[in-house]
Amino acid sequence: MYDLEVLIVGGGCHGVGLLHDLASRRIPNVHLVEEKTLSSGTSSRSTKLVHGGLRYLEHLKQWPLVSEALSERAILLRILKGLVQPLPFVLPAFKGDRPAWMLQAGLFIYDSLAGDGGLPRSRRLSTEEIFEAAPYLNRQRILGQTSAAFLYYDAQMLDDVIVRVAAEAAVKLGASYEENASVVGVEPLHQHDGFKVRIKSAQGERVITARTVVNAAGAWNNANLIRWGITPKIRCLLNQGSHLIFKNSAVPQIQPEDAAASLLQNKDGRVVFFIPWNGEWLLGTTESLLPAQAPRGLKPSAEEISYLLDAARLNLDIDASEQNIKETFAGVRTMPINDKSKSFSIATLKSEWSENPFASPAYMQSTEGLNISALSRETIIDETRPGLFSIYGGKYTTYRAECEKLGSQLTRLLKRGGQSTTRTSDAWFLAELLEEMPDIFTSSPSTRAI
Ligand SMILES: Cc1cc2nc3c(=O)[nH]c(=O)nc-3n(C[C@H](O)[C@H](O)[C@H](O)COP(=O)(O)OP(=O)(O)OC[C@H]3O[C@@H](n4cnc5c(N)ncnc54)[C@H](O)[C@@H]3O)c2cc1C
Repeated sequence: MYDLEVLIVGGGCHGVGLLHDLASRRIPNVHLVEEKTLSSGTSSRSTKLVHGGLRYLEHLKQWPLVSEALSERAILLRILKGLVQPLPFVLPAFKGDRPAWMLQAGLFIYDSLAGDGGLPRSRRLSTEEIFEAAPYLNRQRILGQTSAAFLYYDAQMLDDVIVRVAAEAAVKLGASYEENASVVGVEPLHQHDGFKVRIKSAQGERVITARTVVNAAGAWNNANLIRWGITPKIRCLLNQGSHLIFKNSAVPQIQPEDAAASLLQNKDGRVVFFIPWNGEWLLGTTESLLPAQAPRGLKPSAEEISYLLDAARLNLDIDASEQNIKETFAGVRTMPINDKSKSFSIATLKSEWSENPFASPAYMQSTEGLNISALSRETIIDETRPGLFSIYGGKYTTYRAECEKLGSQLTRLLKRGGQSTTRTSDAWFLAELLEEMPDIFTSSPSTRAI
């Protein structure tokens, strides 16, 4: 009766993760539509860490998220060998900032929450060991301004590759996807449940019916809803984060593959990561509100670049000159704000903001009174109206678990499909894909067009 059981809008980690989950349950007629190319949104612009987020332990209410992320870290390390790998971190305790005992206690909790997660436990480092693991650190700062340093483990991923591999695995399990096509209309059917969906591509516009729709469009979620004439219930804050990639020659002391990453801090107390990545060095990230603007074609601002270079000069003994910056990239975090006092009238949103929905009240236009760093990275799955779900926020690290939860909800709703198998390596076809499409295993995040 319907063309599709589930139509998914958006080919980032959440959209593709759900496609893969539903396909692994053998739910038929599941299709994903991506406006540009898979992972061209935020999902190729992350810091590339599969992590619990040590710093979120500072907020007790975020502990369950840290715990879930650590258990996902263990699962992804097990099933995505080569795409997710362990990464040691040096964590210096800077004088005047969080004291060494606090970091040590935090690491103890982090290790305990991770349980037997397949990674070594954290430990205190001697001075010699610090520079052995991370000889690129600024000696003067480390020797003069730290009271201790620790080694702990997290993991690193090829974010864009995982999305493409999951999409191909979903296809092997019977699902489908298309790129360079946009969902321009979602309208409830009159006499039945389900939706009439308009899809626009270079071939023109076509109309299909779908029993359920999942809006997995990240930062675009509310803009889509407004254009489709559906009231968003969740306000979003779009928060830009930028990175610099330094050439290997910036760090003469050590090859990236032999080095530990570091969790450092800038003058304002914000943490920044310096990470060996893909044969080069990644430094990030920043946090700044992206007001009234669609998150396409983002570039780090001059202030963000100078903020990161300041962090490099403060903490690192590397050649952080402009010539050694190979490239830069920026992404946007979608942070759902639980602001029950705000409700929207779709008529007003549509008439006043359809040209630029990102300037509407469905997106925060100011951060006054908000501490962005303290906002939760939780995923919110909102049933925006019966049969239409929107996935807001979240971390890449937890995408599989969140998609499994929504997959279970859809399985109950559709009364079709079995158990998800995305937590087993069988559902990923890594060896087969490596043989058939070796190119998809090459990461090129910052050069992909968006
Ligand atoms: C700077 C930064 C660093 C981060 N670092 C980490 C990290 O180290 N570890 C971690 O776990 N998480 C990290 N995150 C978070 C993580 O990257 C995001 O949570 C995740 O990538 C969001 O994925 P998504 O699928 O929800 O959205 P996206 O990846 O943005 O995907 C949404 C897609 O929807 C498409 N789309 C929109 N509208 C339509 C339409 N109408 N029709 C068709 N397609 C449409 C877009 O083109 C886009 O491709 C970071 C985020 C940022 C910004």
